[in-house]
Amino acid sequence: MAGIYIHIPFCMQKCGYCDFYSLVGLSDKSEFVKALCAEIDLRKDELINQPVNTVYFGGGTPSVLKIADFECIILALEEAYDLSSLQEFTIEVNPDDMNLEFLNELKHLGFNRLSMGIQSFNDRILTFMNRRHNAKEAVKAVKMAQIAGFDNISIDLIYGIPDMSLMEWKNSIDSAIALQVQHISAYHLTIEPGTVFYKKLKLNIIHEVEDKNSIAQYNILIDKFNQAGFDDYEISNFSLPGYQSKHNSSYWNSNSYVGLGPSAHSFNGYSRRWNIADLNKYMHLIKNKEVFYEEEILCERDIYNETIMLGLRTKNGVGLIDIEKMDKEIVRIFNQKMSNNLQLKNIYTQDGRIKVYKDKKILTDQIISDFFVI
Ligand code: SF4
Repeated sequence: MAGIYIHIPFCMQKCGYCDFYSLVGLSDKSEFVKALCAEIDLRKDELINQPVNTVYFGGGTPSVLKIADFECIILALEEAYDLSSLQEFTIEVNPDDMNLEFLNELKHLGFNRLSMGIQSFNDRILTFMNRRHNAKEAVKAVKMAQIAGFDNISIDLIYGIPDMSLMEWKNSIDSAIALQVQHISAYHLTIEPGTVFYKKLKLNIIHEVEDKNSIAQYNILIDKFNQAGFDDYEISNFSLPGYQSKHNSSYWNSNSYVGLGPSAHSFNGYSRRWNIADLNKYMHLIKNKEVFYEEEILCERDIYNETIMLGLRTKNGVGLIDIEKMDKEIVRIFNQKMSNNLQLKNIYTQDGRIKVYKDKKILTDQIISDFFVI
């Protein structure tokens, strides 16, 4: 089984924290849609004999496309790949693009999962992040999606935001739970170079939150979601039973996926490749059938590091059997690290897998880097 990710590189405005590749203010997207369909056709042989079980439209903001654009892209996908086993068909949407007619049309196109970028239910924080919607519009958008018949809705939240109080965070979580969605992704803010937040950080206009506040916010997150019946199946992802994201889970399980569109990444088990993050160059190269991506063949060390990084972030952990078949030197280093981390009570073993203790989850990134082989 394989997945397909499609990157739609457009946004109405840029959020202060965002370093995803997206362009603001481009009204005519037809040339992009043409290039994307051409890429799909160019890459139709990549998933031969691999039925596709998840398709994910991400971005950017896919919901800025017109229904006719989706129809072209979906037709190209159907012609190129075996979608007969498709289980999960997700689109990322922004609350401010939602209306009942658009949602009904998305449903009609076959989308069965919505991932809504809400980020906060606090208007002060939404303005601070330069989001286009307010809390009331976010609530309305989710309710409209439910009326349109979407019964698998995920919403994104962000914590670790400068000057956000614990009470503001608690209220956002409560608002998310009250909406009775099936899945919530909650990410700690990372201030990346090239973002507006990064400039403000360098100018001392904003400050990163202290570790103790991050830990307190993460603990609130886990407690509240667990109490509401959400399983913390990955460090940033929470689902009601049966609603884990199949698409993201396939990334964490190192399944193959094809990434289409500018800046999209692909993985086929032994190499990673990433499309050029420049719309004009992407369209030009596709049109002229020239190389529009870079590729890296993964060595055993890379595969080990990825197995650790992706696995330890999940509740399922890392299978010892997957490590034992690797290079002897890597296995030796792993065993040493495992023994240290067992002693420190960072991890435990269960059913042939290593997993991070619940009370150490906030330290997952540190534990992962300790296991890395450089
Ligand atoms: S966070 Fe989403 S909506 Fe905001 S700029 Fe980034 S991709 Fe666009």
